[in-house]
Amino acid sequence: MTVRVRIAPSPTGNLHIGTARTAVFNWLFARHHGGKFILRIEDTDLERSRPEYTENILEGLRWLGLNWDEGPLFQSQRLDLYKEAVQKLLDQGLAYRCYTTSEELEALREAQKARNEAPRYDNRHRNLTPEQRAAFEAEGRSYVIRFKIEDGREIVWNDLVRGKMSWRGSDLGGDMVIARASEEGSGQPLYNFVVVVDDIDMQITHVIRGEDHIANTAKQILLYEALGANIPDFAHAPLILNMDGRKLSKRDGVTSIFDFKQLGFTAEALVNYMTLLGWSPPDSTQEIFTLEAAAKEFSFERVNKAGAKFDWAKLDWLNSQYIHSTPVDKLTDLLIPFWQAAGYKFDGGRTRPWLEQLVALISQSLTRLVDAVPMTQLFFRDIEFSDEASTQLKQEGSATALKGIITALESQPQLSETSAQDIIKQVVKGQNVKKGLVMRSLRAALTGDVHGPDLIQSWLLLNQIGLDKSRLNRAITEAN
Ligand code: GLU
Repeated sequence: MTVRVRIAPSPTGNLHIGTARTAVFNWLFARHHGGKFILRIEDTDLERSRPEYTENILEGLRWLGLNWDEGPLFQSQRLDLYKEAVQKLLDQGLAYRCYTTSEELEALREAQKARNEAPRYDNRHRNLTPEQRAAFEAEGRSYVIRFKIEDGREIVWNDLVRGKMSWRGSDLGGDMVIARASEEGSGQPLYNFVVVVDDIDMQITHVIRGEDHIANTAKQILLYEALGANIPDFAHAPLILNMDGRKLSKRDGVTSIFDFKQLGFTAEALVNYMTLLGWSPPDSTQEIFTLEAAAKEFSFERVNKAGAKFDWAKLDWLNSQYIHSTPVDKLTDLLIPFWQAAGYKFDGGRTRPWLEQLVALISQSLTRLVDAVPMTQLFFRDIEFSDEASTQLKQEGSATALKGIITALESQPQLSETSAQDIIKQVVKGQNVKKGLVMRSLRAALTGDVHGPDLIQSWLLLNQIGLDKSRLNRAITEAN
């Protein structure tokens, strides 16, 4: 048997972290078994589906490296298939037209509520006579197609994550609606039904999805039986929870994949983190791995039943590990969009080699890519002196030291690491001052601050774009 799995997002919003994590588990399982990973866009809800969300979903999956083998298939292009299946169930007497009006359903719900019963359809139109049906039609009532669910049925499956699951037919809310009325007669098919028709048609062997679909699975198993198809295996992945233990939602701020990208997470770190949201590798000390490496080890035996808490600190840590090991040229490519978004311009000598030097200077201090923006501001924008920097510049000997540096620079317009060190030594010796004073004053003058990246390297970078002398001069004015 070839493993065939699918991710089936609805394009009613941007690619969500929960959907992406489900995609990760599907991808890992498919790759582990040398199977196929299929992408299906569930766009039957015409009112809420939007092409831009489809685009966002495809782009997000690509960005994360979750390449698919077949698709995207669009449900909206497969309506004939669903109609045929509805007709098959109608012909076999497994489904029927239900003419109950919304007012009648509302009255039913109220009565059930008054008796403290769970709301359910009472199957009242299951056995209409041809005359009754004709009378409803004559009244001009519209109908839905309901699939018969026997109350006494027990539905059991062995969930790959949760073990033995058992549901009673009576817990499923009565005969279920599988299609709404439409002019063509067989109706506009609904979610639970089309999922099954598609999964049968696409020969899906394992349905891997979020735990929020468990109740659907019970209903869907009955539909597989009715349609005479093999029932796939099911694996329900745990939900992603926020730190308070509640389902991660829009209220937690960031939930769409591109929000994470904008916050400065790399695709590799994010996808690595998502594999750990509910799964742990056999060697649980191992935390950093590529998707391919995880695929080798992946099995549902190591997927937790309990919800997976979203841990920002851990994601940050993983992200920093990835950034710190990214080669400078690639990291430069990743950072350029963040600098551009901040309005930084690559002019005045800020060439690609210069940018790469800058990246080498800060790379080990980055946790998120976006951290590069404030960290490198002093290389792109005019500086202001912080209070501490001003105090430093007013220290006795500071201005004189800076003047000494300017004089030395006259004979060394093109700085190198060695000549920069020499200039400092020369000033320390010539003026008989502490090296610390010279270094601190130089940092304050060049960067406007008393902390920051390596001073000599920063100076070299500023020297290359011709900013060091003017800043030294300005600092001397500030010192007086
Ligand atoms: N369209 C469903 C969702 O986005 C997919 C459900 C399934 O995987 O069967 O939740």
